[in-house]
Amino acid sequence: MDLKKNTEFVFQQVAEASREANRDPASVSIIAVTKYVNVKTAEALLPLGVHHIGENRVDKFLEKYQTLKEFPVTWHLIGTLQRRKVKEVIPFVDYFHALDSLKLAQEIQKRTDHVIKCFLQVNISGEESKHGFSKEELLELLPDLAQLDQIEYVGLMTMAPFEADSDELKQIFKKTQELQAEIREKQIPNMPMTELSMGMSRDYKEAIQFGSTFVRIGTAFFK
Ligand SMILES: *Cc1c(COP(=O)(O)O)cnc(C)c1O
Repeated sequence: MDLKKNTEFVFQQVAEASREANRDPASVSIIAVTKYVNVKTAEALLPLGVHHIGENRVDKFLEKYQTLKEFPVTWHLIGTLQRRKVKEVIPFVDYFHALDSLKLAQEIQKRTDHVIKCFLQVNISGEESKHGFSKEELLELLPDLAQLDQIEYVGLMTMAPFEADSDELKQIFKKTQELQAEIREKQIPNMPMTELSMGMSRDYKEAIQFGSTFVRIGTAFFK
């Protein structure tokens, strides 16, 4: 594994995809998803220009955070969060990407002493195995979610099905972007909805075409 070469490649590819989409490369933040590697390897990314670290599990998030918290890193919890684990992790999270129920939002509201930036996870493809709100469900719950003033709903997060082809990916990302705009236009104070968390190693190019502002990339760094 050549970390330096992989990192340069990821940064360069994301910049190129941004330019192809007529977007400023600076408008796309790259989250290095470090779940495949130990703390030492994660730390080695920092001098290479990585400023965002993402983990999908609470225990691994806390392990990396405790060791690397003195570095200038923005911390992303990107995976499913059980309600009983909210209080041990949420104080250290800068962005939580997988808010997928009203009950979880209420628990976050209860357990935090500062405003937490959250992405609402949507399941646009309707795939059974995926977490997230359906479009209809989310639109119906917005008034209840909006009452939770310790949460800033920065945007939507989605994960495309593993087997999706390029056309399906584009459909999913496009629909997510349209739903983001629909919610943003409601101008709800704690729902700025300016961000989109979409795109992983295999589909970040398509995601950037449809407005992604945070790509979550693991494999491409560590292969
Ligand atoms: C692992 C993971 C990623 C990164 O996936 P890669 O295919 O390794 O780039 C992104 N998002 C979530 C939620 C993940 O769990």
